[in-house]
Amino acid sequence: MAHTDRKEIKCSFCGRGKSEVNVLIAGITGHICDNCITQAQGIIKEELAQKANKQLESSIILQKPEEIKAHLDNYVIGQTDAKRVLSVAVYNHYKRLLQGNDKSDDEDEVEIEKSNIILVGETGTGKTLLAKTIAKMLNVPFCIADATILTEAGYVGEDVESILSRLLQAADYDVSLAERGIVFIDEIDKIARKSDNASITRDVSGEGVQQALLKLLEGAEVNVPPQGGRKHPEQKLIQINTRNILFICGGAFDSIQKIIGRRMKTSAIGYSSSQENMVIDTENLLQYVIPTDLRSFGLIPELLGRFPVLSYLQPLDKSTLRRIMTEPKNAIVKQYLRLFDMDGVKLSFDKEVLDYIVDRALDYKLGARGLRSICEVIMTDLMFDLPSQPDVKEYTITLEYAREKFEKSKISQLKVA
Ligand code: ADP
Repeated sequence: MAHTDRKEIKCSFCGRGKSEVNVLIAGITGHICDNCITQAQGIIKEELAQKANKQLESSIILQKPEEIKAHLDNYVIGQTDAKRVLSVAVYNHYKRLLQGNDKSDDEDEVEIEKSNIILVGETGTGKTLLAKTIAKMLNVPFCIADATILTEAGYVGEDVESILSRLLQAADYDVSLAERGIVFIDEIDKIARKSDNASITRDVSGEGVQQALLKLLEGAEVNVPPQGGRKHPEQKLIQINTRNILFICGGAFDSIQKIIGRRMKTSAIGYSSSQENMVIDTENLLQYVIPTDLRSFGLIPELLGRFPVLSYLQPLDKSTLRRIMTEPKNAIVKQYLRLFDMDGVKLSFDKEVLDYIVDRALDYKLGARGLRSICEVIMTDLMFDLPSQPDVKEYTITLEYAREKFEKSKISQLKVA
């Protein structure tokens, strides 16, 4: 009827008539069209992202180095030097982010450089754990990349950009979140220059990768394949700015002690008078590591220049391993107590059992990672049987029991003479 045509329903937001839009949804006092819904969705997304950014910024201000270290202490035992250095580096990194946000027009403003970090220490001493714990505390995306799978572009292996694909995945494909994340690159020592003589062959998995990594570390816009792997022409790439991404590298740098020892001997001759009184702890030379040692090991100076912060991790001794079993917030022993508790069983360990486990981890050179595997071989039978024995309400692991289970296990046959 002509009468209803004149009164065509309109979107209360944009005023378009029903005939001009696809869908018009009615509310109590008005209507909204599909166009306006889409636009409103965009606005909401932006508002929420801004809110999240503001929250992130306010949380950054709260984390002072001392607080960062105290948080690390809850999860990582020992490694005081590394924790202090890392806490300051992270604090400065986020100060730098804040500076970037309320940038004034002042041309003289000092630009704070990024504090990317290299951690040197035997495998299993807590390098990854430190980086992971910091990322979790800051609630920023975190990823671990293994330097050994990287090759120079065009060769078999993964492009360095694939590292950022992982970060993007960890950020649930939220680019702005990924751009504030933390990347841990493991086994950085494995991409050391293969030899001083560069003329023999191209060093595609050594110096070539180091050169390629520079691009990521420079703080440039990098084109990242969202699914990782190798870039290919048809793939859609996502641009990520690496300016505010914190890179932490870890490596065992096997036998770098020799390089450090040699350097210290020669420098000791030069400064004989002042250094005579200095007692060098030859058992743990890693604590004296400086960038020149990493350069002698085969990292190129340009790369070292992008990692201004360097620290080391102590090898884990008996008392540290013992503490690792019980003290961290999610210590192995606490985890077992919880697991058994869920079956209604109050579990306890005789003190000697924990010492026995630590001794075996040391004997078999398994480090902290070994503590877990040794516990598993001791506990598996019990975890299999107890759930079917509802009468058992308490159980104590004795040394005798632990020894019997361990000696029957495959690990006990691994011992190297
Ligand atoms: P890496 O130095 O090879 O990166 P990780 O950080 O991956 O070693 O350590 C392996 C595991 O050993 C960790 O997940 C953690 O359970 C344990 N661990 C190693 N070092 C420590 C430590 N200092 N404090 C607490 N747990 C540790």
